[in-house]
Amino acid sequence: MSKSNFVFVLDADLKPLTPCTPGVARSLLKSGKASVYRQYPFTITLKKKVDETPESVTIKLDPGSKTTGIALLQGSKVVFGAELTHRGQTIKASLESRRSLRRGRRSRHTRYRKARFLNRVRPTGWLAPSLQHRVETTMTWVNKFIRLAPVNSIVQELVKFDLQKMENPEISGIEYQQGELVGYEVREYLLNKWDRKCAYCAVENVPLQIEHIQPKAKGGSNRLSNLCLACEKCNLKKGTQDIEQFLVKKPDLLKKIKAQAKRPLKDAAAVNSTRWALKERLKETGLSVSTGSGGLTKFNRTRLGLAKTHWLDAACVGTVEMLEILTDRSLKITATGHGTRQMCRTDKFGFPCRYVPRNKFVKGFQTGDIVKAVVTSGKKIGTYVGRVTVRSTGSFNISTANGLIQGIGYKNCVSVHKKDGYNYGF
Ligand SMILES: [Zn+2]
Repeated sequence: MSKSNFVFVLDADLKPLTPCTPGVARSLLKSGKASVYRQYPFTITLKKKVDETPESVTIKLDPGSKTTGIALLQGSKVVFGAELTHRGQTIKASLESRRSLRRGRRSRHTRYRKARFLNRVRPTGWLAPSLQHRVETTMTWVNKFIRLAPVNSIVQELVKFDLQKMENPEISGIEYQQGELVGYEVREYLLNKWDRKCAYCAVENVPLQIEHIQPKAKGGSNRLSNLCLACEKCNLKKGTQDIEQFLVKKPDLLKKIKAQAKRPLKDAAAVNSTRWALKERLKETGLSVSTGSGGLTKFNRTRLGLAKTHWLDAACVGTVEMLEILTDRSLKITATGHGTRQMCRTDKFGFPCRYVPRNKFVKGFQTGDIVKAVVTSGKKIGTYVGRVTVRSTGSFNISTANGLIQGIGYKNCVSVHKKDGYNYGF
């Protein structure tokens, strides 16, 4: 039986209470003791005030470049999972388009204008807009969850591997890779150091094995400076050969690998500025913020035998004894932005083809709202739920899970969730 995410519960004063199971929420709604507060994430409000102290909730975050995993836990019970997809690439593309338009304008024959580029100073801690957006959207959702659930702490994955855990590289190393935490930290470190590629043939996206540069059989040590990553093919081919012998025909590569291997530990500790910026912002919420490493997350996930998804990864962040997964569907949240300010759309040649109405609202709806349309007569009889695209005529298009339905009258539509810059799915 599939289990859905828990439902958020607010009391009559909108005070967050302990999230409940979908079944409990259903019976509360049915008996009229509660009403729907919002659809995504599904939240209900009770019709009375509640004085009891609710069970506190922990938010766990696994920030990624494209997707951030979010998990909400009550103790060791995972009650809510979400995956937030960012739109960094879209932001980059639209800034580039703006840049090229301005550049074109500058080289046109116009009156003299003073050069105004290079007159700006970037404040400390500045992030590129596409990266800043990741911090902002993640904070939006953290704050949203704080309003909907009795959150008292936040755990975030901060670094890929923990330098402290590898402080003594002489004793750690390959011997620890089976089932020990240090092995996972070492692996993450090596993946980072060797760019997730085979050191010998640079192949990517294949399982990589930990390799001794000077083979153990010939006295090679377990120190991190003697370890690299190799694909299975290269590993077998190299066998117990010396690296000099193995790469005798590729002196350049040999030199490169040797230099790379000697790179000190600190150099490889790539600082992820976005994650650090997020940490600072999380602290501003006033809740207790703790962090974990990627190696620890992977160690926890493997030990608990969980699938590799963003939200389960998030649940595994930090120190975890055991987890009880009470949901197996995560809410998929996609950042869509709030549309464009362009008042004149152009065709592919850059000529104006249509104007955009000044007012975004048509009969109380705007593009991006999620609506439910019940059509009882005509060709399009049926019930449709999906994102609406408004037309000034009042005849809307709805994109449902089964495709686009065109020409639905506004009178048939009821708003389910107002546009908030995100798309939702399961
Ligand atoms: Zn290889």
